[in-house]
Amino acid sequence: RVEALAALEAMDVGKPLTQARADAGALARYCEFYGGAADKIHGETIPYLDGYTVYTLREPHGVTGHIVPWNYPMQIIGRSVGAALTMGNACVLKPAEEACLTALAFADIALEAGLPAGALNVVPGLGAEAGAALTAHPGVQHISFTGSVATGALVQQAAGKNVVPVTLELGGKSPQLVFDDADLDAALPFLVNAGIQNAGQTCSASSRILVQRGVYDAVKARMAAAYGDLSVGPAAEDLRLGPLISNRQKDIVEGFLTKGADLEIAGQGRIVESAPATGAYVCPTLFANVPAEHPLAQQEIFGPVQVLIPFDSEDEALAIANSTDYGLVASVWTRDGARQMRLAKKLRAGQVFLNNYGAGGGVELPFGGVGKSGHGREKGFEALYGFSQLKTVAAHHG
Ligand code: NAD
Repeated sequence: RVEALAALEAMDVGKPLTQARADAGALARYCEFYGGAADKIHGETIPYLDGYTVYTLREPHGVTGHIVPWNYPMQIIGRSVGAALTMGNACVLKPAEEACLTALAFADIALEAGLPAGALNVVPGLGAEAGAALTAHPGVQHISFTGSVATGALVQQAAGKNVVPVTLELGGKSPQLVFDDADLDAALPFLVNAGIQNAGQTCSASSRILVQRGVYDAVKARMAAAYGDLSVGPAAEDLRLGPLISNRQKDIVEGFLTKGADLEIAGQGRIVESAPATGAYVCPTLFANVPAEHPLAQQEIFGPVQVLIPFDSEDEALAIANSTDYGLVASVWTRDGARQMRLAKKLRAGQVFLNNYGAGGGVELPFGGVGKSGHGREKGFEALYGFSQLKTVAAHHG
């Protein structure tokens, strides 16, 4: 169903068809991975006192709530619902009001594939109504939320009243650190793409590029040239960037561009003429020489905007990288193996990539944040532990 789902998502969200196809492929891959994991996760036996046999059982929470945003509906449904169903939970999924069509289509496909009716329920609606009702419901025993920090805090409060666990994935301000000895040819596509993919509406977008002074001018010139090749237009034209999700999101991003009015613009893309004037199109923009404490270097923009920040030493780079409230993803570009190991330990992030960014999405790789990026881990086997509870059984048999 990749083509049908991709066409639906492109129409609903405005993302280029290539990205929508990749999202549909990822949804299928999550179902495959978690379907395959269902008979490979189990408890343990624990050596204990003489006369005892002790073992653990992994049991479902029961009914789980899944609140999904509009930026990658299919991928986020796959990772959250896929893992929850595998552990034997029932799911109530609340898609975003801006983008609920692929959630509904997925539920139809799941029924057709033989998932029992009632195991997966999709309840579209406004966040403040349907989302709030779901998080406050006493019958819900686990909540998984992806979205903004402000809404995540509300979700955690609501879950707290019912004393149920939450997984929060709240975005970030993820840095890439480029050292003088980096392989720039290898780094360049990742430096740009990680910032502009899905028009920058990506929780793990790399919006900060920290560059050591020896290669700063070279990186700036090469990224600026790459920005010059970026085109923004309607989803059906399948350019590098589509529109943002809404004019509300466009206003948020343009507010940040205004805050950067005094900064140096190193490079910009272009909006194609066929893009309707009423659409939520934003010109991708690369700012240079941005102070680390500037709002554009501290706050999540969720649009196609990146900042270049120069640094001199490894210690300075680390201090800048760790200076935001967020901690989702970080990457390091260097040929120095000892530096790679040092920084992998010291960077404040749930995922650290060495000489790459994102590792191609990585259904298998545990993902989640620290600080305001949230807590709990999704993806990989780790998610299965979060979507289950451990029961310890101690038998005394003499
Ligand atoms: P949001 O957090 O308000 O919406 C995300 C989901 O939460 C949607 O399904 C929404 O209906 C639901 N929701 C809203 N209010 C709720 C409530 N009171 N109780 C329960 N559920 C509720 O995000 P938004 O307003 O659509 O976007 C605002 C900003 O959030 C963006 O500019 C961006 O910075 C950030 N964002 C981050 C991600 C991410 O992947 N981390 C995704 C979307 C948006």
